[in-house]
Formats: sequence, structure tokens, C-alpha cells
Amino acid sequence: MSGINNLRRSIVLKRRPKGEPSAADFDIIEETIPNPDPGEVLTRTLWLSIDPYMRGRLREEQTYAAGVQIGEVMTGETVGRVMVSGDPRFHAGDFVVGARGWQTHTISQADQLTKISADAAPLSTYLGILGMPGATAYAGVTEICKPRQGETFVVSAASGAVGSVAGQLAKRAGARVVGIAGGAEKCLWAQDKLGFDDCVDHRSLDLQRELQTACPNGIDCYFENVGGAVQQAVFNLLNPFARVAMCGMVSQYNAQEFPPGPNLGFVVGKRVLIQGFIVTDRPERLTEWRAMAEPLVADGSLAYREDVIEGLENAPDALAGILDGRNFGKLLVRVAHEAD
Ligand code: NDP
Repeated sequence: MSGINNLRRSIVLKRRPKGEPSAADFDIIEETIPNPDPGEVLTRTLWLSIDPYMRGRLREEQTYAAGVQIGEVMTGETVGRVMVSGDPRFHAGDFVVGARGWQTHTISQADQLTKISADAAPLSTYLGILGMPGATAYAGVTEICKPRQGETFVVSAASGAVGSVAGQLAKRAGARVVGIAGGAEKCLWAQDKLGFDDCVDHRSLDLQRELQTACPNGIDCYFENVGGAVQQAVFNLLNPFARVAMCGMVSQYNAQEFPPGPNLGFVVGKRVLIQGFIVTDRPERLTEWRAMAEPLVADGSLAYREDVIEGLENAPDALAGILDGRNFGKLLVRVAHEAD
């Protein structure tokens, strides 16, 4: 290796953002690509996933997972190609997925990587519909919401990586599916391509009334991705014995202080089940989901959409964008082309 090819670039945290993160909160450092020791694997990153949870890793206070320290490489899931392997389970040219961070090249212990095939589905889908976001939707729908034939299932951030899969799974279970998304284009896509029965724009002037019109029989299942005003409107329409999967509340991730909470007194009278979950609680479900969904993605039974940003250096802007609804579909950074 020589010249620029001999260097790896990494994005490290420079300071903790206040409010919306920006490129100024990160540094890009360059260093010689390290050689793997025995048991280690050197990979070149092809795809980097950008996910809302990353905002939590930038906070001083601990969330459900440890934060990134100042000067540390930013965390993130990647798809890469093996360049050099010091472990017999991997060979140069293999494609792998792992949580390897915002870097052009990574050194990993072999057990931090999972081999994937480029034949089953596009490599990028292992960060979206066939990866952590897809498994999140699967867990929330099947373990908490459990939609039944004829019930009304509502999902927010409906055109996003998690929401788009959650709604399709509820549809397959026979529910009437209503999405909530930001803007007419996202709503149209949710109906045309994902097969949702209806979709409401959360920026509309009267979200409550529009949601009520879309859900004339109330709401039996809610897959919560955003919180805030959307949550309030949905909660007003929950039916007795409704199930709420608390997946995330992206509308609050940039907040310095959280707004006063809602009055949840109705939860008792309506016997509503509200349950939070984290996809990594049961890692075996990712493997289960992947095996189940691979053929459905390959034959087009499950639809997905990707929003691709070019270049590792644009990852901080991409993160700011996903927290602000600028992405349309699963947000990815292409770090290198697969053919390079
Ligand atoms: P998305 O691809 O859905 O992107 C986030 C979307 O959130 C934006 O595109 C935007 O869509 C919407 N949004 C942002 N701000 C607001 C707001 N103020 N009000 C309403 N909507 C808003 O991201 P993911 O699918 O990756 O993640 C969705 C949720 O799932 C997040 O809350 C995330 O943290 C959570 N999650 C939880 C996991 C778990 O284990 N519990 C695992 C993975 C994800 P729009 O334009 O439609 O408003």
C-alpha cells in the first residue's frame, strides 16, 4: 500500500454538541492503516449506517449504552470488505457487518464481525431492513404490539428505516395500518410502496383531527418512534387494551431539557400496555429476523428505500439530518464503492 491508500480516516468526537450536532463537533484524523495481529481482521468500510440513537452516544450522561468519549472514534454499524485476515474464519474479499465505527478502515476481533453474502440481497440492506432497524421493527411488532386482524396499527416516522418495516409487518398480520410522516411525499410513498392504508402528515395544521379521520375505530397498537406532539395526538385515540411499543422519541434527541411529561392517568382506565424495548436485549432475534426477511427482500415482498450520502466526511451532517427529518428512508453513508 502506498500514498493515500496507506491512510485511514476516522471521525472522532471533538466536543459534546449542544442541540443539533454539526461537523464542528467532530475531528477527522488520518493515520497509517494498522496491520492486524493474529485473531484480528482488517476491513475496508463500504457502508456506514446513520441512526438516531447516535445522538444519545454524544451526551455526557449515560443512556442505556455507554457514550462516546471525547477523542474516541464515533460508534456506528458498518458493512465492510476484508482486506487482511489474521483469523481462519475470514478471508480477503469476504463481506462483513459489525459495529465498527466511523472509519474508512477498521481492525476488529474476528468475533465482532458477521459474514454476509452479496448474493442474497444488496450489501447496504444489512444496515437497514435486514439489519438492526429491521430487527427492531420485528421485535416491537411481534413482542409488544401483536396486531390482530382488523385492528388499527399506527406507526410514526413511517417512511424511516424502522417505521417502514413495522407497518409492513402489521399489514401482513391483517391490521389496518396508518403511518405518520413528515410531508406529502413520504406519506404517498408509505401508501403506494409500503401498502399502508392511510398516512397522516405530522406537520399538518390539525394533526389530531386528521389522525382521527384516518383511525375512525380508534387505535389498538402504536409503534412509537418520535414522541412529542405526535405522541399526544395518538395517545388521545388509544382504545381500551391498546399496546404501545416505545421504540424511540427522536423529536427529543437534540433537547437540552425535556418537556414536562403527559398525564398518563388514562393508561389505568383503558388498561393500556406501554412497554419500552431495546433491540439488543435479545440479539438472537436479529439472526432470526435476517433469515426470515432475506427471501422477502429478495422477491420484493418487503419494500424498502435508502437515502445515500457520499463520503465519510459527511457523516456528521447526515446525523444532524436524520434528527430533523431530512432523510427519506434508511440513511446510509457510502464510505467506498463496492467495486473499488
Ligand atoms: P428514521 O429513518 O425514521 O429517521 C428518523 C425520522 O424521525 C426522521 O426522518 C423524521 O421523519 C422523524 N422525525 C424527526 N424529528 C421529528 C419530530 N420532531 N416529529 C416527528 N417526527 C420526527 O430513523 P430510524 O428508523 O432509524 O429510527 C426510528 C426510531 O427508532 C428512532 O426513535 C430511533 O431512536 C428508534 N430506534 C430504537 C431502537 C430500539 O432498540 N429501541 C433501535 C433502532 C431505532 P419525518 O420526516 O417523517 O418526520
